[in-house]
Amino acid sequence: MSRPEPSRRLQNLSSAIFSEMAQRKQEAARKFRVIDLGIGSPDQPPAPHLIQTLTEAVQRPDVYGYPLSEGSPRFRQAVADWYTYRFGVALDPQREVHALMGSQDGLAHLAMAWVDPGELVLVPDPGYPIYAASVQLAGAELYPLPLRAENGYLPDLEAIPAEVRQRAKLMILNYPNNPVAAVAPLAFFEQVVQFAKRYGIIVAHDLAYSEMAFDGYRPPSFLQAAGAKEVGIEFNSFSKSFNMAGCRIAYVVGNERIIQPLAVLKSNIDYGVFHPVQEMAIAALEADMSGRYRNPVGALYQERRDVLLAGLSRIGWTIEPPKATMFVWAPIPAGWSSRQFAFRLLEEAGVVVIPGSAFGREGEGYVRIALVKQADELLEAVRRIEQSGILQQKPPQ
Ligand SMILES: *Cc1c(COP(=O)(O)O)cnc(C)c1O
Repeated sequence: MSRPEPSRRLQNLSSAIFSEMAQRKQEAARKFRVIDLGIGSPDQPPAPHLIQTLTEAVQRPDVYGYPLSEGSPRFRQAVADWYTYRFGVALDPQREVHALMGSQDGLAHLAMAWVDPGELVLVPDPGYPIYAASVQLAGAELYPLPLRAENGYLPDLEAIPAEVRQRAKLMILNYPNNPVAAVAPLAFFEQVVQFAKRYGIIVAHDLAYSEMAFDGYRPPSFLQAAGAKEVGIEFNSFSKSFNMAGCRIAYVVGNERIIQPLAVLKSNIDYGVFHPVQEMAIAALEADMSGRYRNPVGALYQERRDVLLAGLSRIGWTIEPPKATMFVWAPIPAGWSSRQFAFRLLEEAGVVVIPGSAFGREGEGYVRIALVKQADELLEAVRRIEQSGILQQKPPQ
């Protein structure tokens, strides 16, 4: 008798490197107190007033029923108000805002809602892993858009072959970007809108790092580009902007006709975000709009970026400072593969970083360092990297 096998759609998922990293981390932990700068999970709690809102909301007897998948009217109104306040973008809270259980939820289901086997999706390479995974889960085809330093990590739309432009149904973009930590000017989004209109392509922009930006830089929304709402949607999340990653709340905004199939799919799968968490999210947006409360995440990660890059530069590892995100995209010494380098760093310095190749073929030659520890830990990581001598070592054959 043959043993049942898991579904074929799981077989192409490439989470292998993350589990391999986790296993090697366990081995290294016998030798070191490991400093984990791998996964981009915020290490700080939400602001005290948000925890207070959550605490009060969970005492109410009327918050324990099934919430609505699309989000409460108050939640959707707060998102619409905040988009006007923050980006000058007008949204209809009923039809152009939909709650998500994390952007991951929306991004994972978007391809399933929009593409069939044999259809083509344009995905950034390197890219946040769920983009490619969702396309694979939907059984559709991927066309990688290389993000390269010489183009400011923006995809070269002109370089997309004519046949690919005709076939593509959906394009996924993400600025400020994970893993490369690059940002995009509004002018680029305007080019994307023209391109998408010409070829009838849906654009999905992931703006998870909208509030995690430095030196006064304010990342734009894709929906600020003229005509963007005719072709696109945008995902945004409370995970990074408000240190609420564990709360699982985010939203998708923009073109009603593009959001609708995702809403239909989700209404079949889940019943929405716990009411008290929605209340917490509303409070986060309202406090931001009131001007009374300064969102601390920009300043916090800016300081960490500066501490880490100054330290690494002192030991001979010079890295371009990012304008946003919680990541540093660090070129590695010539001759190493990013896997070899990341594993050696773990074995000899007890520091976890993610090999660039985990995010796609174009990520080779880099590692991603997450700024998820306090400044003194980052300095300890620098000290250990220096002591390991890895930057001076000959690459393995
Ligand atoms: C962290 C992150 C998210 C946030 O995902 P949630 O599911 O909302 O926690 C989305 N996109 C990118 C690129 C991220 O790095």
